[in-house]
Amino acid sequence: MLNVGVVSGNEFSPLVVERLTDHGAVIHARSAPELGQERDSRILVSCADRSLPTSKFDLVLSVADGSEHCCPRHSPDVVLTETDPALLRNAVDQLWENRLLPFSRNKAAPRPKHRKGPAAMCPPDPAWPATAARAAERILRTSPLIVRVDHIGSTSIPGLPAKNVIDLQVGVANVSDLDQVSAHLDAAGYRAVPGTWWDAPTSYQPEPEQWAKHLHVNSDPAQHVNIHVRVVGSAGWFFTLSFRDWMRADAGHVRRYAAEKQRIASKYANDVNALNYAAEKKLWFRDYVEPQLYAWVDSNGWRPEKREEPHFMECSKAEVNPNTVTAPEFSPAATRLPS
Ligand SMILES: [Zn+2]
Repeated sequence: MLNVGVVSGNEFSPLVVERLTDHGAVIHARSAPELGQERDSRILVSCADRSLPTSKFDLVLSVADGSEHCCPRHSPDVVLTETDPALLRNAVDQLWENRLLPFSRNKAAPRPKHRKGPAAMCPPDPAWPATAARAAERILRTSPLIVRVDHIGSTSIPGLPAKNVIDLQVGVANVSDLDQVSAHLDAAGYRAVPGTWWDAPTSYQPEPEQWAKHLHVNSDPAQHVNIHVRVVGSAGWFFTLSFRDWMRADAGHVRRYAAEKQRIASKYANDVNALNYAAEKKLWFRDYVEPQLYAWVDSNGWRPEKREEPHFMECSKAEVNPNTVTAPEFSPAATRLPS
């Protein structure tokens, strides 16, 4: 079941809801229970109040009405900009066919859908942090065992060209929580990628068990999200967050990383898969990034911020998520740094 919210409050939103039901979506309303029995119930549409966090739904639609949104967690995923009824209906038709139907199919499929080929590199998109924040809020709701969710990877580094794939790191307290969190994510439509996953250990933290992870992907065909589930304080978890903050701290690092990505991408432009690209990038990490990064962590006494998205707290409509409030504080003793 795909749960879609349509932000109510202007003259066009009823038209959007009506068009969605023309296609077979079910309206979530207590007053019309009989509707649900006759219709295809793969896609459920609710009228969303502006003050509801978007994480209550798989996807939130809004019709542009010129009003500002207070924060990422209250911003719609899709803004329909047509104000001509015929064009707006057409836009809903496209959305139904290209996003909602495949989203609902992917969510229900026994395995994650294969994502074809290497994704194209995009210029840095200022919308990535908000997209990541919405995805993080949704994922946080899937399991009480999730301690924190952080935006990581290339889209988390301002100014860096990247593939339009959001990487999120889900932190759990113990190795024993990994399987259960994976089951919760899978049940919520964040499909487990089959296989055993780990990141290559650095020479500074060589123990393979410190680099284990579970890998999941989301089901929305229009915005890919990769979910890396790691134990809070493990070497892989620590490396990923410290690398992000090291990059964010120095525009020079970002320029060098961008140039290196570009160089390697051009070298393997004709490859059908991304294996050579990934292998050569790994060498650059080993020879250039790792020595500097570990030295920087050591000399700065770097520790991860307790909360990834402090602006959520500033939004007047924010509800406090119990998972983040009870999260154990990161303990530096959990990670052995190079001596
Ligand atoms: Zn807000």
